Amino acid sequence: MKIAVLGTGMVGRAIAGQLSTLGHDVLIGTRDVEQTRARTESDLLGNVPFAQWQQAHPAVRLVPFADAGAHGEVIVKATQGATTLSALDAVGAENLSGKVLLDIAMPLDLSQGMPPTLTVANTDSLAEQIQRAFPETRVVKSLNIMPADIMVDPSRIPGEYNVFVAGEDADAKETVKALLREVGWPDGAILDLGGIRSARGAEMYGVLIFTVSAALDTNDFNLAIVCK
Ligand code: NAP
Repeated sequence: MKIAVLGTGMVGRAIAGQLSTLGHDVLIGTRDVEQTRARTESDLLGNVPFAQWQQAHPAVRLVPFADAGAHGEVIVKATQGATTLSALDAVGAENLSGKVLLDIAMPLDLSQGMPPTLTVANTDSLAEQIQRAFPETRVVKSLNIMPADIMVDPSRIPGEYNVFVAGEDADAKETVKALLREVGWPDGAILDLGGIRSARGAEMYGVLIFTVSAALDTNDFNLAIVCK
């Protein structure tokens, strides 16, 4: 499948690398190709510069957001949350129309330190903002509640745990669920929360992640729903 991954950070790299390894035709989108390639420093979390990552993933081409969007049958949104709509404007409504958009972004505001607050919450969500701004796009929220390396390798944590999907379009959710299964999520682990409004809870849970991570001093954990 032709897949566009918007975002050159940890999440974009994890998703693009894994889907490419699985045989998908993946482009990764950025604001400015030359600037992204020219970076020579690791980021604050120790992630190597993009050019170094790409040497290990030569099949994943780096292109401007709009070119990635034009290519993708499925578009994975893995850019900074607060600037989501401007990133999608750069992709272009014409390149998003009718497409499945898997939104992994978190609307984090880190300006006051940790834990972060959210730029949108309670009565709205980032996923709903995207769906309103691009009504022809089939938005599905998923994967945002866990670290990037677990998104594409659920076996990293022993035991059974869950991944949420939320969105209005049943076929779009099936497309995302199929991709989740491809990267190793068991069918029974995929919990469909309902319409796009249910993305609110999935995004607000993101704040708790940072608190739990600080308490456990690790990012290697995930959420298991335990029922009677
Ligand atoms: P990130 O640092 O949050 O985002 C990097 C991407 O955002 C880059 O592609 C960058 O573009 C783009 N970006 C930054 N400022 C922008 C702006 N003003 N306009 C348009 N695009 C802009 O990277 P990340 O850690 O991979 O996270 C990606 C998303 O997933 C975020 O929303 C994050 O909250 C969410 N998330 C992350 C994790 C995780 O484990 N890191 C887990 C769950 C959810 P350039 O390529 O041009 O630099």
